[in-house]
Amino acid sequence: MTIKIDVDMTKCQHYGQCVFEAPDIFRLNSDDKLEYTAEADDSERANIEAAIDVCPMQAIRIVE
Ligand code: SF4
Repeated sequence: MTIKIDVDMTKCQHYGQCVFEAPDIFRLNSDDKLEYTAEADDSERANIEAAIDVCPMQAIRIVE
């Protein structure tokens, strides 16, 4: 199963906390802007949920 991830880029402030929780999904590019993989394997769910929990802007959600 795959998980679809959505980040509201109007809310994201590019702090990067999500990168620490799910580094295979979220990364900061060379301009320190967030980039992410919109589809992930179900094995990443716990990491993604951790990223959702730490995001100070509540910008991340799983699209079921
Ligand atoms: S933790 Fe939230 S605000 Fe910070 S970079 Fe990730 S999505 Fe953006």
